[in-house]
Amino acid sequence: MKKAKNLIDLRSDTVTKPCAEMVTAMMAAEVGDDQYQDDRETNLLQEEIAQRLGKESALWVPSGTMANQIALRVATNPGDDVIVSTQSHAVWHEAGAGAANASVQFTEIGSAGRFTASDFENAIKPPNHHIYPPTTMVQIENTHNRCGGGVFDFDELNAICDLAKGAGVFSYLDGARLWNAAIFGGQSVAALAAPFDAVMVSMSKGLGAPGGSVLAGNADFIQSAIRQRRMLGGAMRQTGYYAAAGRFALKNNIARLFEDHAHAGQMARLVSESQYIELDMSSVCTNIVVFKLNEWAISAFSLEAALKEHGVLVNALDNRTIRLVSHLGVDEKDCIFAANAVVRLVEEMSANTASL
Ligand SMILES: *Cc1c(COP(=O)(O)O)cnc(C)c1O
Repeated sequence: MKKAKNLIDLRSDTVTKPCAEMVTAMMAAEVGDDQYQDDRETNLLQEEIAQRLGKESALWVPSGTMANQIALRVATNPGDDVIVSTQSHAVWHEAGAGAANASVQFTEIGSAGRFTASDFENAIKPPNHHIYPPTTMVQIENTHNRCGGGVFDFDELNAICDLAKGAGVFSYLDGARLWNAAIFGGQSVAALAAPFDAVMVSMSKGLGAPGGSVLAGNADFIQSAIRQRRMLGGAMRQTGYYAAAGRFALKNNIARLFEDHAHAGQMARLVSESQYIELDMSSVCTNIVVFKLNEWAISAFSLEAALKEHGVLVNALDNRTIRLVSHLGVDEKDCIFAANAVVRLVEEMSANTASL
């Protein structure tokens, strides 16, 4: 068994720790009280993100979840309908916050984390109807977390945002991993963000900063977001230490994301060889691999526990589904070791179960 310090951690790209140079950049940050807009690094990060995303204004927030909550609070009213993809972060990973903080309902459409303009058109509930809850927001998650880092079709997202504009529906991009989508498609993040009213990007995922996300949109949206951030308890003071890590990440950790994608592709190819594993290789686009254990295999929770014993940490999303995420803290060797361990353990343990 590997020693604890040598664990290969593929649970998420959020497990990344700041490198020595990032820590140096954080220590050198010129900080101030961000509630007086005195924090120079935070101001610079907000300007840089607004500019990179082609939006008027941007706001640093402690987490991506808070960014998503703020957007709901600014752009919807209680009782409204919000259209999202299947397996969306809003429905699965925000602890029920959308219902609690914004009193909205979510309608999940499409499949595998994606939907088409026509799916969307059919799901819009018109305003001023005496029975329907009005649809006031559509969210697109790009890349898609629970659906294996999938990239949303560029023409569809443009068509969806066009329809949204025509229907008076606010379009919101959950771009926690937007740079992964940009690298995959060979596009700029500005092109991917352009059709949306507002966008969130995370510094704390594959970019490797210890925390923080940034919300971007027009000046009015950001003005309202500042109030909502405070109401949610997210108005912090010397945020420049985080912002400096974010700026370091923008400069140094974007170009290398293609390596994470290559590592995820390698893991996917190796695990897909197992007769107990179902994985559509075309679903693997970026740094996430989500696969199913078939009915003859052990459960995902058993595999997760067994892998841990062998020094590999993964995430069982449910009883049949495992997620592996590559990031700057693991190299090719680690990923090959982990994928081989997955295959070996699944084969051994499933065969043992079958012979009982
Ligand atoms: C991680 C994630 C978030 C939330 O970010 P946190 O900083 O963890 O709150 C939102 N959306 C997606 C798609 C994510 O993967």
